Amino acid sequence: MWIGVITIFPELVQAALNEGVVGRAIRSGSICLELINPRDFAQDSAKTIDDRPFGGGPGMVMMAEPLADCVRHARTLASNKGTTTVMLSPQGETFDQSMARKLSEIDSLLLIAGRYEGVDERFVERYVDREVSIGDYVLSGGELPALVIIDAVGRLISGTLSNPESVGTESYSDGLLDYPQFTRPRCFEGSSVPDVLLSGDHKAIETWRHNEAIKRTWERRPDLLLSRRWTESEQAVVRALHQTDKMSDEPTV
Ligand code: SAM
Repeated sequence: MWIGVITIFPELVQAALNEGVVGRAIRSGSICLELINPRDFAQDSAKTIDDRPFGGGPGMVMMAEPLADCVRHARTLASNKGTTTVMLSPQGETFDQSMARKLSEIDSLLLIAGRYEGVDERFVERYVDREVSIGDYVLSGGELPALVIIDAVGRLISGTLSNPESVGTESYSDGLLDYPQFTRPRCFEGSSVPDVLLSGDHKAIETWRHNEAIKRTWERRPDLLLSRRWTESEQAVVRALHQTDKMSDEPTV
């Protein structure tokens, strides 16, 4: 997959992508990363890429022209002419695992990191396919949101994870949060690992983990369960959860 990032801080993005599984995928060539700096497309010797907002007000706004030149340049580098161009913005649609999955299926993705008060709206209207937010808060730039997207998308690309099957059981993969994990030692500060995990009974372990995932989702993110189609065995777990006082107000099966 080709991933381009338009940013005035390419070193910041590069530094974060030198490490971990996504860094390895970049080094192995599963992900082709291109960092494009709008300052290289500025039209004056001072490399200006921002200006004061028309109409007044605080701060500076990123100018449309250098960004448009960056996008045109990026599209010549991308493996595929159908690059999806995403502007990071706190005003965009909220990023989630389902969006990560869909983005991991495309050939090329161009991410644009804003700075200052934002970006000239005419650039957004003409060059951006979608605006994406990583949450309801305002950061000082789009680099961290771009990295969040690259990490979430990058780990879903074939060849990135050494255990790709782990993706199927992770939180949000099938509408449930992940089950709790344990490793050595067997007893930590008086707390022991659940017996079933030491039983060697793979079927029992699988059932326990699935039930724990339902329980955890029920307790922490009941909103995820509202549209779930329950299997018969899951219904039994949920009925048991219903019978505990603490959870009696939670979603019904
Ligand atoms: N004035 C803008 C507003 O209130 O909507 C905020 C601009 S913010 C200081 C600068 C840049 O950071 C944005 O253009 C965007 O690229 C990025 N950014 C900030 N918060 C973000 C978020 N929650 N999700 C995605 N990008 C964000």
